[in-house]
Amino acid sequence: MLSKEEAVKVFTDSGALMEGHFVLTSGRHSDRYMQCAQVLQYPEYTEILARHLADTFRDDHIDVVIGPAMGGIIVAYEVARQLGVPAIFTERMEGEMVLRRGFMIEPGERVLVVEDVVTTGGSVCEVIKVVNTFGGKVAGVGVLVDRSNGKVSFGVKQEAVLTMDIESWEVSSCPMCQEGKLPAVKPGSRG
Ligand code: ZN
Repeated sequence: MLSKEEAVKVFTDSGALMEGHFVLTSGRHSDRYMQCAQVLQYPEYTEILARHLADTFRDDHIDVVIGPAMGGIIVAYEVARQLGVPAIFTERMEGEMVLRRGFMIEPGERVLVVEDVVTTGGSVCEVIKVVNTFGGKVAGVGVLVDRSNGKVSFGVKQEAVLTMDIESWEVSSCPMCQEGKLPAVKPGSRG
């Protein structure tokens, strides 16, 4: 299992977790920024993070791993590879989370739901609903980054590789703006 320090190092080394002076999508400023997709471009880092989740659920008799597109696809694939089970994914069609492409969940199958980042947990809840619709049993939820700082609960066994709460400020009270030494940079597409 990874310690928080080891997890932070993987996210930082891969460029997923950056320190600086950032403008978030909300317009608020922060001193850290997480773009989880950055870590998933490196199979060797992805393998390390996925091992934490695979080890957490190794004794839970998982039959299939499922994640929501896009962020959950690679996580599901690598966790499933390490557990020796199939990986499938849900996707949105006209706003609704569905299983397509002939993917199936058999009634009674034990399903591990994974995702790259949870903030409010909305997408994971939608995937859980899909699993329930097929009669599957959600055996757990595993995420790489829990940005709710542990506040989101799915009512099943759950694990996050990294639990964090990125602090942010209104521009008027941003300590870095007040120091006036760093320009605010807006990275990526998601805050
Ligand atoms: Zn600022």
